[in-house]
Amino acid sequence: MQRIYLDYAATTPVRPEVLDAMLPYFSNEFGNASGVYSWSRTAHQAMDKARDTVARILGARPDEIVFTGSGSESDNLAIKGAAWANRHKGKHIITSSIEHFAVLETCQWLERQGFEVTYLPVDSVGLVDPEQVKQALRPDTILVSIMYANNEVGTIQPISEIGSILKDTQAVFHTDAVQAAGVLDLDVDKLNVDLLTISAHKFYGPKGVGVLYVRKGTNIEPLIHGGGHERKRRAGTENIAGIVGLAKALELSYEERDTENARLEALRNQLIEGLSAIPHSRVNGSLTKRLPNNVNVCFEFIEGESLLLNLDMKGVAASSGSACTSGSLDPSHVLLAMGLSHEIAHGSLRLTLGRGTTQADIDYVLQEVPPIVERLRAMSPLYRG
Ligand SMILES: *Cc1c(COP(=O)(O)O)cnc(C)c1O
Repeated sequence: MQRIYLDYAATTPVRPEVLDAMLPYFSNEFGNASGVYSWSRTAHQAMDKARDTVARILGARPDEIVFTGSGSESDNLAIKGAAWANRHKGKHIITSSIEHFAVLETCQWLERQGFEVTYLPVDSVGLVDPEQVKQALRPDTILVSIMYANNEVGTIQPISEIGSILKDTQAVFHTDAVQAAGVLDLDVDKLNVDLLTISAHKFYGPKGVGVLYVRKGTNIEPLIHGGGHERKRRAGTENIAGIVGLAKALELSYEERDTENARLEALRNQLIEGLSAIPHSRVNGSLTKRLPNNVNVCFEFIEGESLLLNLDMKGVAASSGSACTSGSLDPSHVLLAMGLSHEIAHGSLRLTLGRGTTQADIDYVLQEVPPIVERLRAMSPLYRG
């Protein structure tokens, strides 16, 4: 049976060029970057080169790049780090109700430590209104965290506009750009952000390595204490192979971005068109401000989980939205925030495309999904044709 992977928003395979770039640093060039001998110099040089590459793509300075252990860690470091470092200026934080759990759970933890958090609503396609950010601002607001692109419905937020509103305030602006990296412009000056998170395994790099961009002059308290690594912002012997892989993967994504985005967008549009032709379906998210690889559709009268299991039997790997919630029976917090009812939100299907996706994959999915939906509906007590 064929196996079709359509869950690139959950993770991606490491590209062969990336693996090749990483391999020496596991064996021959295994040195700890902190030593004074040649092994260390080689490791340090590789890390410096990777830092330069990442900085160039972000339009940043190399000393503004902090390597971390994941996107989740970068989100935690940004939010807890900025909240703690600025707590004498205020205790108010603004975020959105559709963030990744690495942001939402961190904000909820900070609430238990005495911070106050405003969770902004979104409209029916999942967009945050910059005007509402402005209205939520208070004299004691110290931090705003709004994601660049949503991992479930692919909606792209007006980050630059929100950033310019925050320019003459004391609030530090963080964006979780994990889904945007490799796909959208990451220039931190154009985006008007102070802190920005990316994670290698979402753009064909290895798992377990991320970046937090920290604008010069932005104070963050470290989460991990120990050695003086990463200019005292994140202790721990550097994951040289991972860091080299992250930079290589990011560089390749941006070299190929325009052609790959156009290719994926065309395939995505076919999927959206084909799936929305199924009766009682609806496309979630914006049709215009959307990641080129994201499809998210709800089918009324069916359970998303049953649909996923049936697709898996046909060799198709898909998701109901958030990787963290699948397996639980709770509907997506993102779809609920967009105003969908519990019943409809339960029947959601997320397909995310990537470098391995072909026209034949799309044709296969469009052939397999309609009969599965029909069969599941025939078993549903709520469905009357
Ligand atoms: C995957 C993801 C994360 C978490 O990144 P990890 O490296 O898996 O910890 C954070 N935010 C968004 C939007 C994501 O898609």
